[in-house]
This record gives sequence, C-alpha cells and structure tokens, in this order.
Amino acid sequence: MPVSKKKPASSDVAAAAAGGASTADKPAEKPAEKLGDKLARLGLHTDMDLVLHLPLRYEDETQIVSIADAAFMFGRPAQVEGVVTACTVQFRPRRQLVVTIADDSGPLVMRFLNFYGSQTRQMAEGNRVRARGEVRHGFFGAEMVHPAYKIVLEGAPLPTVLTPVYPAGEGVSQPILRRAIVDAMKRVDWTDTLSANWLRQLDLEPFEQSVRLLHNPPQDIDEAALIERSHPAWTRMKFDELLAQQLSLKRAQLARRAKGAAALPKIGRLSKAFLATLPFKLTAAQRRVLEEVRADLLQTFPMQRLLQGDVGSGKTVVAALAAAQAIDSGFQAVLMAPTEILADQHFRKIAGWMAPLGVQVVWLTGSLKKKDKTEAQAAIGSGQAQLIVGTHALIQDAVQFARLGLVIVDEQHRFGVGQRLALRNKGLTDAVATDGAVTVPHQLMMSATPIPRTLAMTYYADLEVSVIDQLPPGRTPIVTRVIDQTRRDEVIERVHAAALEGRQVYWVCPLIEESEALQLQTATDTHATLEAALPDLRIGLVHGRLKPAAKQEVMDAFTRGEIHALVATTVIEVGVDVPNASLMVIEHAERFGLSQLHQLRGRVGRGSAASVCLLLYQSPLGMVAKQRLATMRETTDGFEIARRDLQIRGPGEFLGARQSGQALLRFANLETDQWLVEAARTLAQTLLRDEPATVDAHLARWLGAREEFLKV
Ligand code: ADP
Ligand code: MG
Repeated sequence: MPVSKKKPASSDVAAAAAGGASTADKPAEKPAEKLGDKLARLGLHTDMDLVLHLPLRYEDETQIVSIADAAFMFGRPAQVEGVVTACTVQFRPRRQLVVTIADDSGPLVMRFLNFYGSQTRQMAEGNRVRARGEVRHGFFGAEMVHPAYKIVLEGAPLPTVLTPVYPAGEGVSQPILRRAIVDAMKRVDWTDTLSANWLRQLDLEPFEQSVRLLHNPPQDIDEAALIERSHPAWTRMKFDELLAQQLSLKRAQLARRAKGAAALPKIGRLSKAFLATLPFKLTAAQRRVLEEVRADLLQTFPMQRLLQGDVGSGKTVVAALAAAQAIDSGFQAVLMAPTEILADQHFRKIAGWMAPLGVQVVWLTGSLKKKDKTEAQAAIGSGQAQLIVGTHALIQDAVQFARLGLVIVDEQHRFGVGQRLALRNKGLTDAVATDGAVTVPHQLMMSATPIPRTLAMTYYADLEVSVIDQLPPGRTPIVTRVIDQTRRDEVIERVHAAALEGRQVYWVCPLIEESEALQLQTATDTHATLEAALPDLRIGLVHGRLKPAAKQEVMDAFTRGEIHALVATTVIEVGVDVPNASLMVIEHAERFGLSQLHQLRGRVGRGSAASVCLLLYQSPLGMVAKQRLATMRETTDGFEIARRDLQIRGPGEFLGARQSGQALLRFANLETDQWLVEAARTLAQTLLRDEPATVDAHLARWLGAREEFLKV
C-alpha cells in the first residue's frame, strides 16, 4: 500500500499536553508518557489524526449569566461566575467537596463527588470561580453537580468564539485534547490534497481553512449550520472522508483485478444435469443474477460479487450453479457458512443434489474428528474433492486446495471483520498455479441482510452487487401478530392446533445477552413447560451448547417431520430451511433487533402453507421496541425493514459498529449527504485514473493505519 504511516507522535503530543492539566475541568492527569497511549486508544496516532479529530459539538462560553437567571434555564447548561464563600468536605451521605459561590444575585452550591486535595486549595474563600453546568434545585437551593470550572481573576476576558467539545476518552480531558490539537496544527503539512481546479468545480472550501474554522469557529459564524454540520467547512470534511473511503475501496478492487484468475468457461454436463433435476424453475430474478455470475466467472480476473436477496429468495441454488460451473471447468469450489447447523444443511442439500451426478462433495468443520479431518484435507489437497462445504474452520486451518476456482461465502454479514479480512486475504494468497500463471479464486458472497443503496455504495464500493428481488412463486405472505406474553396459554393452544394439522413449529427462546448460561436455562425450561403442556406432541430442543452431532440429530428429526415443535435459541437464526414449518413463536421479541427478527421469521413461509409468526412481548414496551414490533407487523419486505432499521439505529450500529471499528464514517451522514456520496464516487474514479499522486496523498491524510479495516 502506498500509505506510509507516520510514527505516532506520542512524545510530542504528551509533552505538549503535560502543561495543560493544571486548570483542567478534571483532576490532574497520570504521568505524561502514558498520554500517547491514551490518545492512541482514541485512534489518534499522528499529528494529522489529531488535526482531523473534529469537535463533536460546541459550547457557548462567551456569556455569563447571573446565578439567579441560571436557575431558570431548565436543563440547559449555564455559565456563572462568583466568589467562593464556603468550601467544605462533607462526609454524608458520602464523601464530597461542597463549594458555595455567590454573585450579586445569590448563592450557588457546587458538589464534587470525586475530587483531589488540590481542589480544596483552589477553592479557597475569596477566590473567583467561573463554572459551567446545569443548575438543579437541591435541598439547599440552586446547585451544580460536577461543573466544569476555572479559577479566574476579576474581569478576566470571556472567549469570543464557541468552545469546541471533542470526542474524548478516559484520562484525556478537553483541555488536554485542545492543547494537543493546537500543537499538532503547527506541525502538519496543510497542502490541500485537491487542486484548486477540483475545488472550484465541486464548489468546495479549501482544506486548511475548513479545519481551522471547525476547531476555532469565528464569532460571527452561522451557529445553526455549524451544529447541524451543514456549514461549507463541514461539507469539505465530509466530502474528503467519503472520497477517502471510495478511493480505498476502489483501489483495493483494482489491486484484486490486477491479479489473474482462472476463467471458468464451461457450463457443461453438470450444470445442465443439475438444472434438469431441480424440482422447480428458477425465478426471473434468479436467472438474471445467475447470468451476472456466469459472465464474471468467464473473466480472467477474480470475481468479487455480493449476492443480496431477501430471506427465502433462493440464493443457495444460484450458489450451487456457480459451483457447478467451476466443477464443469475442472476446478474446486468451496462453500462456507457461519454456523455448523447451516453448513451441515448446505452440505446435505447440495450433496443431495450433486452427489447423484457424480460430484465428490466433502464436509469440513472444526468439530470433525482428527482422522476425518485429515482425510478431508487429503481429498482437498489431492483435488479429488470437487466441492467443499464447511464452516470458517476452513479458513482458520491450513487447508491447501489443489485447484481452487471459486469461494462462496454464505451469510457473509455474520462473519466477523477479522474473518472477512482473512477470507479476502486468502483469496489473494491462496494463489494456484495453473499453466505457470498465478491466479486467485473467484469470490461470491451472499447476504440476506439487504443493504439500502447508499450504504451499499459506500461500504461495498469495491464489490459488484447482484440482487434477487423476487421470491419464488406460490408463497403466501407470513402473517405476523404481536401478543402480550400474558396470553401464553392461547399461544400454546395454537401450537397444538397447528401440530394437529400436520404443520411444524419453531419456538424461539429469548435472547439473554448478558448470560449464555441463563439463555440455556430458559431454553431448557421452555422445553420442559411445552412438554408438560402438550404431552401428545414431540417437542425438540436445540441450542448452541449441544455437541454438533446432537444438534444434527435434532435438526434431522425436525426436517423429517418427527418433531412437532422445536424449541430453539438463535442458533436457528440464519439459513435453516425446513419448508413444512409454518408457525414461528418468538418469545421476548422486544429484546431482538429488527434484522434478527426478520431473519428468524424467515425460517417460516418457505413452503406453500400460510405461515404465521407470533411475537410475544413483555410490557411495558420502550419506544424503540414498539417501533420495531410495529415494523415487523406491517411488512415482510427485507429492504423496507432494513430501511427502517437504518432510521431507528443509524448506519454505525446497522452495520455492527463494534465489529467494523474504525471503518465507519465519522462526519458524513448517509441519510442526509447522499449527494456527496455520488460526487465522491465520481471524483474517486477520475483520480484513480488520472492522478495517482493525489490518491496517495489523500489516503495517507485520511486513513493512515485505518485502511486495512476499510477494505473489509
Ligand atoms: P435463501 O435465499 O434465504 O438462502 P434458500 O436458498 O434457502 O433461500 O431457498 C429457500 C427455499 O426456496 C428453499 O427450500 C429452496 O429450495 C426454495 N427455492 C429456491 N428457488 C426456488 C424457485 N425458483 N422456486 C421454488 N422454490 C425455490
Ligand atoms: Mg440461505
């Protein structure tokens, strides 16, 4: 990569910051040499990182209000100034520093629950204090708890500009950050990465001017525009950020394209026989997507395609046909799934389709016995295995493929970032020599989490995207009901009735994030309750702690229709396909996220029987939970659900913010800044073609070490 990351300027930063702590709003900092590490935890490694650490919001410290007026600002922070009239350490109800100040209009009590000895000296009687916080009405009149404060001399000038408030972290207070940023601004190279010509054409403000303005907004600034981030200075930052993202992803894509791939040119005997034996006809959407995939596989550079399709839209068959093309062309194909249950189901389904046609299908997961694993690996290494199905153990273990032509990743959003990175890297390193040429396999990624267009354009800019936007015919839409859990008995009655009609039931146990043990307990309890309530039915139980073989046994029995109702944890969330199941009960539905509910509900409605999903909730419901359940009741369209999910949660969480770490956009808002995304995308293409030096400079400035993550 062209990006040469500057060494962390930790010593500079720490030295610069050390002096800033004395009048801090918080107690004095720990030893200075640790500051670099603390800043690093905020993702601030270089001077430019600091310079681009832009304010989260601004505080208005340009005004002082009287203590009497501050008491009527109801929840808004106020800045007051007064002289200390009393300073005591109280011990009840707990140890705290209590300082009273007064101005002409009256007294104000300030309380500090954590304080240092030095603070009691600062607040000596007669000293003048400027304090900022929310006034509450305590037992002794107006008070502020933990206000930000400064000791000042009478007549000390007020700031004339808004005070920036930065995203801060433990042990890094605002004054320290401010000082570090001011110093970093003296050292960085301000050269604009975009030429004056581009700025004119795109109507963008210069970089340096924009950054300086955001750190130190002038007095006469349009405050609303600053706060809403619609000010031209913010626009420049958002554009730069989006441009960096586009450049990084597109460049990664070009790098992959520059590698060779073996063309998989034969759509031959296997492909044809497979299509002929399918018990159904492909939908128009499946045919269109299949054509897109087939065309990619004819190329001599690696395919990087994301296949999106709602739950139940029939992605597996398209994947199997892609695999058939690889095998017809004399190559191996791999299909990976995020869970054992799903991998197992794929294995059986696909082996069921392909083995009769003479294809060697091999199964590989982490839980295989040593001997079986060695055998599987040998078959893969010798090339005897043509289609390999398994879990990510496939990528973790050292598996050597003889002639790997195609990698298929099912439910790719479920793989963690690290695994996805490993996957993409494996594509690059697992080069196969064919006729002396070094090639990498084609990749097909499948996802049932539909991603709204703007998100796809930004986060998957390096992938081609195909969409199956149609469900197979003959499905009746799932009817969803939201039911208070006090009506459990009625629900159990419905389970009974459904079973007597020969239909099968999933009963999903509540998600208990804090404790897996508790979740397990709940599942076991529910199983016992249902067995007791419905003695004439066979009730199964499946959860994550079962041994793979036991899990398989239960799933098999359910698939064969020997179990009426299956009590399950979220292990059944993705991919599981038992068409005869047509009633889904989800307990404590209010604890699940929207996409998770949609995935779970997608386990029914797979056959022609009318399906029902019952969402049991415990009242009272919070606002967000209410919105979620209403959405589930109103629509079964995955894209619509995704759109609302995005609205409710914002893009960060939508994509799993914790997972993707640094990759998320800090400034741009994909809901409101869509036009910027388009502009950044267009410019990225031009720059990559015509201005490689600009690309390098821009990426170095904006991404530095973060680039690896963005590619995931
Ligand atoms: P998903 O896209 O959620 O992975 P699957 O591939 O599991 O969906 O397919 C869902 C169900 O629909 C499966 O039982 C599959 O055999 C069936 N199916 C797939 N394509 C068609 C089709 N064109 N017509 C009828 N049924 C289909
Ligand atoms: Mg699937």
